[in-house]
Amino acid sequence: MTTVLLAEDDVGIAEPLSRALQREGHQVVVAGDGPDALQCATQDEVDLLVLDLGLPGMDGLDICRRVRKQRPELPVLMLTARTDEVDFVVGLDAGADDYVAKPFRLAELLARVRALLRRSVPDALEVGGVRMELSARRVLVDGAEVGLANKEFELLRVLLHRAGQVVSREEILREVWNDPELKTSKTLDMHVSWLRRKIGGQRIATVRGLGFRFNVG
Ligand code: CA
Repeated sequence: MTTVLLAEDDVGIAEPLSRALQREGHQVVVAGDGPDALQCATQDEVDLLVLDLGLPGMDGLDICRRVRKQRPELPVLMLTARTDEVDFVVGLDAGADDYVAKPFRLAELLARVRALLRRSVPDALEVGGVRMELSARRVLVDGAEVGLANKEFELLRVLLHRAGQVVSREEILREVWNDPELKTSKTLDMHVSWLRRKIGGQRIATVRGLGFRFNVG
């Protein structure tokens, strides 16, 4: 699930927008002033910032510049009521990825949000001879396509995404099986062994007592 930080002090905008984003399947955090917005935006859980240009306590442009320094990868969609072009340019200068002028149509704003989130998620992962094409749901090992079952694909995605690091059993079970209580722990071991058979056993290391690691190179 993605988390959208909505920095907007006008409740008449924040409330309906927040509901619409939730209907799209996002978790929404609302910040009503500048300092609060800045503090929330620098948390890792936030995947997208919808930022009103006119916030109490700190200007939206200032927030955007500061957020950019700490989290250059975070997509920022600016909301502005100032319609002169200079503000737009300055807004994008400050590092916003896109902007919507108020009053906006909800459908248009949601389309921009979708586009920004799509852009921020890479569609292919490639590490150590293993390539995953996510939207095509294709896996290539040393250039040859390998057929993976659904859970094997998700498991590989989690490991590859954090290649070189240990991913704990708990994290894998939560992300792939949605089971933080470890009831499917044995199932995980079975899937790891199937996956090893398909992509090469040396690529996935067991880290005793912790979890698994996808070996880089
Ligand atoms: Ca405002």
